[in-house]
Amino acid sequence: MWRYDPPLDDMRFTIEAVLDAPASWSQCPDFADCDAGMARQVLEQAGRFAAEVLAPTNAPGDLHGCRLEGGSVRAPPGFRDAYRAFVAAGWPALACDTADGGQGLPKLLDAALYEMLLSANHAWSMYPGLLHGAYRTLKRHASPPLRERYLPHVVSGEWLVAMALTEPQAGSDLGLVRTAARPHADGSVRIHGTKIFISGGDHDLTDDLVHLVLCRLPDAPAGTRGLSLALVPRNLPDGTRNAMSCAGLERKMGIHGSATCVMNYDGATGWLVGEPNRGLAAMFVMMNAARLHVGLQGLGHLEMASQNALRYAHERLQMRAARRADGPQPAAADPIARHPAMRRTLLGLAALTQGLRIVAYWCAVQLDEADHHHDAARRERAARFAGLLTPVVKAFLTHHGFQGANAALQVWGGYGYLRDYGIEQCVRDARIALIYEGTNEIQAIDLLMRTTIGDGGAGLTELLDVLAGDVARCEADPALALYAAALKRHCDAARDATAALARRADDDPEWPLRVADDFLMGLGYTLLAWAWARMAIAARADPDAAASARRLASARFGTEWLLPDGERFWQRAANRDARLPDVPD
Ligand SMILES: Cc1cc2nc3c(=O)[nH]c(=O)nc-3n(C[C@H](O)[C@H](O)[C@H](O)COP(=O)(O)OP(=O)(O)OC[C@H]3O[C@@H](n4cnc5c(N)ncnc54)[C@H](O)[C@@H]3O)c2cc1C
Repeated sequence: MWRYDPPLDDMRFTIEAVLDAPASWSQCPDFADCDAGMARQVLEQAGRFAAEVLAPTNAPGDLHGCRLEGGSVRAPPGFRDAYRAFVAAGWPALACDTADGGQGLPKLLDAALYEMLLSANHAWSMYPGLLHGAYRTLKRHASPPLRERYLPHVVSGEWLVAMALTEPQAGSDLGLVRTAARPHADGSVRIHGTKIFISGGDHDLTDDLVHLVLCRLPDAPAGTRGLSLALVPRNLPDGTRNAMSCAGLERKMGIHGSATCVMNYDGATGWLVGEPNRGLAAMFVMMNAARLHVGLQGLGHLEMASQNALRYAHERLQMRAARRADGPQPAAADPIARHPAMRRTLLGLAALTQGLRIVAYWCAVQLDEADHHHDAARRERAARFAGLLTPVVKAFLTHHGFQGANAALQVWGGYGYLRDYGIEQCVRDARIALIYEGTNEIQAIDLLMRTTIGDGGAGLTELLDVLAGDVARCEADPALALYAAALKRHCDAARDATAALARRADDDPEWPLRVADDFLMGLGYTLLAWAWARMAIAARADPDAAASARRLASARFGTEWLLPDGERFWQRAANRDARLPDVPD
């Protein structure tokens, strides 16, 4: 049966043994009270909420979907109650600063919380998923009166937030946004326009909600330099309803429990957040937080697909295995988990889940250090690393979340194709994460053009130096020679491709764009090579012999069977001469 068992052991192993996050917290004065014990308690409680409260709403929410009734959107049954329990437990405020009424805990723990929520119910998790990004945007860019009025409600989660960017003619290209903001005498603006695809644009989870709307003031320059950001609440401060409405719900392939709204703003009252025409900079704060969140969706799906496929493969008996288990042989057939083809799938899912969790959590550690480390140089370095890792986490994890769910479906054979077994919903839900929050192609372009070539490859070289630091650690232990060689090979390939692209992109400006997707995937596999090396180092030091052997086997499987996939990406990224013809008319 499809169910969620929070992978608390693996999460603790990642946080404590692989990343040694408590040592990082000890370098951050704001996290003086955080330690491994406290983190374990948070994970246990979050796991209980995800498994006991949220997971039971997942399949019914998919079947029921959202409804637009009398102009208002209703989320599926159970979603509102689950959200109330979430707020009552204080989860939205986990990583908000104590000065703002938050708990002041590391983002790493917030990432672990969201991994579990997203495994349990992706659609539901879309509603609170933007809270932290909105908190950071308002804290940094809103005027003091606006902050005073809205920030406490966002910190507590009492009011939810929607991010309103997309319009029919403006998808990846936000420079084409047309929604108008007309200044009003009292300092507010009136918003006119239509947005599409707005997640949580309207719903009944909370009594009020606020939209952060990308819009254009009169006489603003064309393109992204003329965009402003406005906060537009569903209810005005005097209690009356604002002039905004949900004109329809998008009919989607998956995440049916998430309300994806067409929103009309008919002179809705709003207030600018940040400077006029500087809206995109303010919005980027929110979009960056959302990109990590979407990457965690990929991880959540991978974990869910992996653990359920493993359970099923042990129960399902079909055909005799080439190598049978020792002892009496009563059954005519063996569990499919014994067949090599299924073993490859199951071991691949487990190794990817563990490796990608290390990568995602490491990104969260960088975000924590960027904000809280006592050393300014370390804060700056962490911010550079977070900038490089975020697009990889978004695109690489969502790629594997979907591909992994798709591969897992095969384990159920024909049953996997039916609605009753859970994996079919997992595949449908996982697909969207490659598209929204900047498509994976846009993430790859951002990584290569802006973050890598933009500084001549210096930032990425610095990151690769840190990864390559673990080559020496592996070389010091003969049992880890395999990991040293693989990590070195991947770091060298990454350096060569980065240097070539940074050096020679000028004479062929289209070259980086032709290979940006390969570059991001190659870097993803390089990070996996590092993650499995770190996993093996930590497992070697684990006094629990059974756990150590299990993790070493998983890291070894990933390194031997999956890393070769990564090498072709670096080969293509470095091949400047491969022709890419125009597509025929
Ligand atoms: C379920 C769902 C929820 C969403 N939630 C929100 C939300 O809450 N708020 C919001 O504002 N939006 C939301 N969106 C919109 C989403 O962010 C956009 O769909 C996405 O940004 C892509 O825009 P588009 O669909 O117009 O595709 P297009 O921009 O038309 O792109 C089509 C294809 O062309 C590719 N492409 C475009 N330009 C380039 C280029 N320069 N180089 C290479 N490839 C390129 C894209 O990668 C894509 O594969 C949501 C969408 C969905 C489906």
